[in-house]
Amino acid sequence: MGRIRILPDQVANKIAAGEVVERPASVVKELLENSLDAGSTEVRVEVEAGGRRLIRVVDDGCGMLRDDALLAFERHATSKLRDVGDLLSISTLGFRGEALPSIASVSRLLLETRSLEEPTGTRIEIAGGKMLRCEEAALAGGTVITVRDLFYNVPARRKFLRTEPTELAHIASLVTHYSLAHPDKSFRLSTGPTELLSVTPVASMKERVYQVFGSQILDELVEIGVRERDLFLPPPSVPPSQAIAEYRSAEPEDPPFRRFRLTGFFSRPQIQKSNRNSIYIFVNGRLIRDRLVLHALSSAYHNLMPSSAYPFALLFLECDAEEVDVNVHPSKTEVRFRHGSFLHDFIRDSIRERLMEARPAPTFSPVAMAAPPAQAAQLPYSEFSQMIENEQPAGSGLVEASMDAVPPPPPHFGEPSMPEFTLRASAPPTPRLDFSAPPIEVMPGPPPSGKLSRRLDMHGEFPADAIPATEMSLTGLSELRPLGQIHESFIIAAGRDGLWIIDQHVAHERILFEQVLKQRAAGRVETQRLLMPMILQLSAEQQIDYARIADELHASGFETEPFGNRTIAVKAAPAAVGPQDLERIIFEILEIAENEMRTNSLDDLRRNICASIACRAAIKINMRLDLAKMEWLLRALAATDCPMSCPHGRPIAMHYSTREILKAFHRI
Ligand code: ADP
Ligand code: MG
Repeated sequence: MGRIRILPDQVANKIAAGEVVERPASVVKELLENSLDAGSTEVRVEVEAGGRRLIRVVDDGCGMLRDDALLAFERHATSKLRDVGDLLSISTLGFRGEALPSIASVSRLLLETRSLEEPTGTRIEIAGGKMLRCEEAALAGGTVITVRDLFYNVPARRKFLRTEPTELAHIASLVTHYSLAHPDKSFRLSTGPTELLSVTPVASMKERVYQVFGSQILDELVEIGVRERDLFLPPPSVPPSQAIAEYRSAEPEDPPFRRFRLTGFFSRPQIQKSNRNSIYIFVNGRLIRDRLVLHALSSAYHNLMPSSAYPFALLFLECDAEEVDVNVHPSKTEVRFRHGSFLHDFIRDSIRERLMEARPAPTFSPVAMAAPPAQAAQLPYSEFSQMIENEQPAGSGLVEASMDAVPPPPPHFGEPSMPEFTLRASAPPTPRLDFSAPPIEVMPGPPPSGKLSRRLDMHGEFPADAIPATEMSLTGLSELRPLGQIHESFIIAAGRDGLWIIDQHVAHERILFEQVLKQRAAGRVETQRLLMPMILQLSAEQQIDYARIADELHASGFETEPFGNRTIAVKAAPAAVGPQDLERIIFEILEIAENEMRTNSLDDLRRNICASIACRAAIKINMRLDLAKMEWLLRALAATDCPMSCPHGRPIAMHYSTREILKAFHRI
């Protein structure tokens, strides 16, 4: 009795229908997902000409019975779903029974498969949806699907394919990321004679990240560890308090909780990407694009990274299958969560808490992920992502699927004026002083640049010392001893683990920001009355913004009142703000209010007002500080929750570790 069945109409009609074959990478995705669903431990992907000429996926999974092999090419034929009820808890990657027939209708496809339950296997050949051959064949267990000449019979589609390297980059990115989600399996990807990725099974995700990206990128990431949060779901008839008590005393086998688990990696705030393409989200092993999770991630970085920048992240979320509806998008890359806001807050809090614990410090080592393209090209992974990033949004691509749905971030504002010097991990060099280049090459660079054809597994076995003994962390800040300033702008300090350079303006900005935010939350911002009220003339638009945020302004320590037509009087201001900055700061806040109107979040508005106050009130660069002041600044910075970056996302402290110093002097 075969495993595959044709779905009854009433089930088939409930399935999100649509085109699954958009480009070679979507074929690879469907075939790879089938191999994983078949329980394979080894998956090999071979492509030629960016997947246009050939895509072959070889697996060692359960294979198909003879009858199933034929049925698999019928529409809505699947072994993974039976009835409508199953749609509510899908635990396999596939479920629609549409991929194989869709692929077979636009290519020349050869299926070779054998289930170990039968003595021989089956070979089926189909071209443009027409069955050409079906025969018994002596085959090993598992499945090989070969797809040749994709879109050979649909010239219009073929014309829209991008260049071979770009299509190959999409395939490489896809296989790479599925390999990250399944560290216990082996994955290989080759193009012609060249192997691009080859990873053997490993015990942890960290080891897989190392295999795929190498130690340099691993150093730039923070591991989330395992974060869990339970959602309590008592039966509707029982009041929650009683249900919790009952649960505690009885410990029933099936507790009324849904557990959400988050693992994975995210980058230090200084790794700033210009788009969301370096964010990979997996839900129960499925690679997805989701607005809610993206929003939770950027909220975690709020005031740690400019709002126009994005981190690198690999997030793996696990939850009950009933918590996610995967049946909302034809290519299954979008999902709907049943308890979205619970999940959103769980992800945001987990990442933020971990960021605050880890306090990752920027280092002087060449930062591969934040480097300009020329440098980034040294790493094959960066080549892949760079090619994808450079591509114009096609609206149909797999990787950028659904990204247009996310509204553009509000423009950046409130940047402190830094007339003389800029120190920024990823900023272009300033004409006067260029700190963006590392003073000394301290990390062994990757081998000379190759093209896409280079293997990703050049890192070999996972050596115990691949991970630095001490995580580059800002936890040691409180023990730093200031030595002096450079350019009266940057504090040089010695610590137990090397040398530090701290930007005095942004350090103070971070201190004030958290202070003002706490005062604001406690409802008592320290204010100072002006001797004479300051009268400000507003434009019609500003007048509207003012009326909308007057209460928030008041709560933030600005006492203002309307004073005739389009004029306001400012009577008091937060104590930290000097009178000379007052006018500028009020106009800046009105501008923030205008921007926030689009995102409509009161919390963001509040944080941005605090950031603005902090920025204006903070000590500037080009200001001499005595040692006692520097010491105070370092202690106060150490006591903040997030000493990594200023509220606008600039790095605060750069670290040159003892290990790097020793290496540079050839002492180790
Ligand atoms: P779906 O994955 O949604 O079920 P597909 O068209 O992708 O639909 O595949 C149809 C069926 O073919 C699957 O349900 C599965 O039973 C079988 N199948 C496809 N690929 C493989 C494979 N690599 N190994 C074993 N069975 C497979
Ligand atoms: Mg499938």
